[in-house]
Amino acid sequence: MGKPTGFKEYQRQTASERLPKERLKDWDEFANPIELKVLKQQGARCMDCGIPFCHTGDIMAGMATGCPLHNLIPEWNDLVYHNDWREALDRLHKTNNFPEFTGRVCPAPCEGSCTLGINEPPVAIKTIERNIVDRGFAEDWIQPNPPTERTGKKVAIVGSGPAGLAAAAQLNSAGHLCTVYERSDRIGGLLMYGIPNMKLEKWIVQRRIDLLREEGVEFVTETEIGKDIPAPELMDKFDAVVLSTGATVPNDFFVRTPGRELNGIHFAMEFLHANTKSLLDSELKDGNFISAKDKHVIVIGGGDTGNDCLGTSLRHGCKSLVNFEIVPQSPESRAPNNPWPQWPKVHRVDYGHAEAAAVFDYKSNGQKTLANDPREYAIQTTEFIGDGNGNLKAIKTQQVDWSNPTENAPFSPVPGSEKEWPADLCFMALGFRGPEQTIAEQLGIEVDARSNFKATYGKYATNLEGVFAAGDCRRGQSLIVWAINEGREAARECDRYLMGVTELP
Ligand SMILES: Cc1cc2nc3c(=O)[nH]c(=O)nc-3n(C[C@H](O)[C@H](O)[C@H](O)COP(=O)(O)OP(=O)(O)OC[C@H]3O[C@@H](n4cnc5c(N)ncnc54)[C@H](O)[C@@H]3O)c2cc1C
Ligand code: SF4
Repeated sequence: MGKPTGFKEYQRQTASERLPKERLKDWDEFANPIELKVLKQQGARCMDCGIPFCHTGDIMAGMATGCPLHNLIPEWNDLVYHNDWREALDRLHKTNNFPEFTGRVCPAPCEGSCTLGINEPPVAIKTIERNIVDRGFAEDWIQPNPPTERTGKKVAIVGSGPAGLAAAAQLNSAGHLCTVYERSDRIGGLLMYGIPNMKLEKWIVQRRIDLLREEGVEFVTETEIGKDIPAPELMDKFDAVVLSTGATVPNDFFVRTPGRELNGIHFAMEFLHANTKSLLDSELKDGNFISAKDKHVIVIGGGDTGNDCLGTSLRHGCKSLVNFEIVPQSPESRAPNNPWPQWPKVHRVDYGHAEAAAVFDYKSNGQKTLANDPREYAIQTTEFIGDGNGNLKAIKTQQVDWSNPTENAPFSPVPGSEKEWPADLCFMALGFRGPEQTIAEQLGIEVDARSNFKATYGKYATNLEGVFAAGDCRRGQSLIVWAINEGREAARECDRYLMGVTELP
């Protein structure tokens, strides 16, 4: 703890952001650089408390509490305060292979359990993390570090999202030859084709992939295991296999809702994937994406995916934009049954909400439940209405009352609350059911009740010897930070399987 009085002297400060109306003109990230002096002050706010909860990574009340990677947060806060950035970077890389991703897009459960957060705004941990690694790249401290010896063992990794990349990084560092198979044309999983550019610019993803390639990891794109290469073939060619295929099957709660078949209703990932691909291929000139320009857009479902649909629709220049949430609005501060150090379930305004509020005047809509925000809470979709030519024209909704559950649902419809909303496009961001099943079927891998590949957390071994599973395909849809955690730990178990012992963390 560099400065015992730091938390009393300095207020929490994170990077300022470009104003919504300005940043909507491009697809670039919107955080501004932050001054060195401010970063040191933020590091000084860390109290290095006796039992730092920020790096526990436990599950409490169903949510992550503290950093799932067990990042050595108080240590690098202190190093930043003392201006020892190089050492801070080494300390950060000990537990996190890709801090440039988490430092940008992690929801920061560490901050939710920071001790200072009991009665003050928490330490700006994520901001410090991002700036440590950005400085590391800027100073050229981050260089390819290939293993000095090879073991002669070969590992196939299926899926190139954060879980697969972390597994590859760790297994390669232990000397195994890793081949990462990816069915998309670009490596990175949802880092590349899920999270949009304005949250994570793609050259940042590519920079890390290039480093891994220089360290000896082989990447094979446009190759789907189970289709282009039968999964059992991997078992013959490799000594071990790590499955990191993500949770790619979307939920569709509207299969029985009238009008679901209309043109203009899409899963969120159809919209987001095509947009980023077209942006990278041609700066959206090839037209190979779903355009929201001049369209009335409704996004159903909140969370990161729904919010990314808002930000993307706004950058296209949509005519109107509303976001439906089935749940009621969260409280402004922690509820009594959600105490520290649990993840605070409080109302948040993410970038897409702020941008929508800057463009549209929601206050003038007499039916809005919130002052100036695109979200409509406690609302359910009852019908998709067509224009007579098979295209979506409007969406019918009804408010729901969560204080009055029925036998079949945790809420009941509110009589007389029906409303019709103009809609040319509807994006469904309703979460994901689990991984696709082809590989499991071809290899005979057991799945759990939610269709995820069955493997115990901490062990990652499936029922098939030498086959491991990590990330969203094992734990269900989750976060980048958990995917990195699982990829690293699955690599450790895979190394143990291959060599009998392991030194991987
Ligand atoms: C739109 C969106 C926004 C998100 N935003 C955030 C955020 O801001 N912060 C955060 O922490 N988390 C966010 N998440 C969640 C996060 O992206 C995921 O939890 C994480 O990427 C999971 O990593 P993974 O490696 O397990 O799988 P994925 O990233 O899904 O990667 C799996 C890869 O496997 C490939 N694949 C699948 N099957 C095969 C096959 N048979 N053969 C070859 N390749 C295959 C897929 O093409 C994919 O590239 C977001 C998710 C979405 C959908
Ligand atoms: S990875 Fe996420 S939880 Fe861990 S220190 Fe960084 S921002 Fe916090």
